[in-house]
Order: sequence, then structure tokens, then C-alpha cells
Amino acid sequence: MDPMIGAIEAGGTKVVLAVGRAWRDVRDAEHYVIATTTPRETLDRVTAWLRQRDAESPLGAIGVASFGPVDLTRSTITNTTPKIPWRGVSWSQFIEREFGALPMGIDTDTGAAALAEFRFGAGRGKDVVVYLTIGTGIGGGLVVGGRVVHGLLHPELGHMVVARRAGDDFAGSCPIHGDCLEGLASGVAVAQRWKHEGGSPLPANHVAWELESEYLADAVRNVVTITAAQVVILGGGIMSVPGLLGRIREKVRDSLNGYLAVAQLTNEIDSYVVAPELGASAGVVGAFTLGADALA
Ligand SMILES: [Zn+2]
Repeated sequence: MDPMIGAIEAGGTKVVLAVGRAWRDVRDAEHYVIATTTPRETLDRVTAWLRQRDAESPLGAIGVASFGPVDLTRSTITNTTPKIPWRGVSWSQFIEREFGALPMGIDTDTGAAALAEFRFGAGRGKDVVVYLTIGTGIGGGLVVGGRVVHGLLHPELGHMVVARRAGDDFAGSCPIHGDCLEGLASGVAVAQRWKHEGGSPLPANHVAWELESEYLADAVRNVVTITAAQVVILGGGIMSVPGLLGRIREKVRDSLNGYLAVAQLTNEIDSYVVAPELGASAGVVGAFTLGADALA
């Protein structure tokens, strides 16, 4: 029997936990979800839940998919994260303190989701896969040749530059850059620009989504021209707005204007810019995969 693996998907607003012996178990399991508050409170709840699972069936490894930026050589959240209480938190020290010398795998939350989609989802059979998540924030992961790309830390696709549209005078919500992609097109940016309090999203016919599709199409175009991705996967809560994916596909196709003469960027664009096959489970399945790989 395969060993039990613990999966920790630590996002900026919530932490998703699961255990399983195979990725399908983790995809299908009831996930345990807690709010991301202070490190002490959040990590105490992570420990309590995983210790119970460990008592039922000993964990062989743990995978961590963490919000970032993360110094992956030290498994530590950097001192630049806007989530100030989390600056300097070391995942490897946390795991070792609470669970002993278990094998541990770590990547960013979006790198892990990209890995999961590459192995088991919409990126199967491709060599170059990009996953972007558009939610409260925007992040992305790049898989090349079966590996999540790391270099200087890791890609930060959410903070790329896109062309501000005429008439959009919103300053941008990114605390670091103002009007980067995340600053113009994240869930927080949409809410602030249109002065829309939480709860239900803006209606699908709101002008907000036309502007949103322009910024996200710019982002996909940047990804295509820089990475030569063979598929671009768009996930996250914002992508559940009806019709948004279709508008992005049209604008990507039209703005590339036939320059890259492949069917995927013209009449087969629907099979190129796609939703994640693992849906909202991509991150936690990615965390599982990192743990399983660390054990192997
Ligand atoms: Zn930014």
C-alpha cells in the first residue's frame, strides 16, 4: 500500500488540508479548510488536524504549496510578503518541529497547482504548461519539461505589466507595484475599482468584466510570447464569472493577430486557453504531489 501523504495548500486567505495515498484520493476527499490568520493560530490548527490524521494512519511525507514569495532553498516565506506576520516563517522548521524528520516537498501554491495540472489535468502530455490563478490575488506557475521552473526564487506571473486601458483611472491595488496585473485585475482590484463590497460578485453583464477580459488577455499574450506555452490554464474564483473565459480567448486570438501561425492560437483557441481540469483542487493535489515526490 502506498504511504499516506499530508497535503498543505497555504493560500493568502485560506489553508486547505487533505491526506491521501493517491492524487485521486486527495482530489475527491473532503478538504479541511481554515482561514489564514496569524502564523501561530493558523499553524496550530494545521498541526492539530494533521496530527489526528497521522494517529489514524502514519504520514510518510508532507507536501506544502505556499503563498509567497517563498525562498525555496530555505523553504521560508520572504520578508517582502505583504502578509507581514508571515515574513520569515519557515515551512521546513515548522514541519520538523511538529512532525519530526518527515520528507517534505515545497513549492509556491501556484507552482504546485501548475504541477498538478501538468501531471493529472489539463496539461497532460504537454512539455510547457502555464497555470494562472485569478482570485483575491493573481499568481502563476510555469512547468517546463516536467519541472516547475525555479530560478531567482520563482516566476511571479501575477506581477507582470499589462497595458492600462484608456479611461481606467484606478490606481491599482498591488501594495508593491500599484498597477501590475494583480493591481489591475485581481478580485481585490475589481472590488476597489467598482467600489463593490464583497458578498455576491458583480453581475456577468457588468462593464467590469469586459475590462477584466482585456487585462487577462494581455497577461495570456505575454505568457504565450515569453514561454511558448502549449496550454494556458486559467483558474481561481474570478474565472467562474460566466462568459469571461470566452471573452479572454477571443481577445488573445485577435491581439496575437495570426503572428504565431498555429491552430491553437487561431481557430482552436478554445482548446488552448482552458479551465483547470482539477478545478479548485489543483493546489491541494499539487501539495500532495510535492510530498509524494519528496518521498520517492
Ligand atoms: Zn504587483
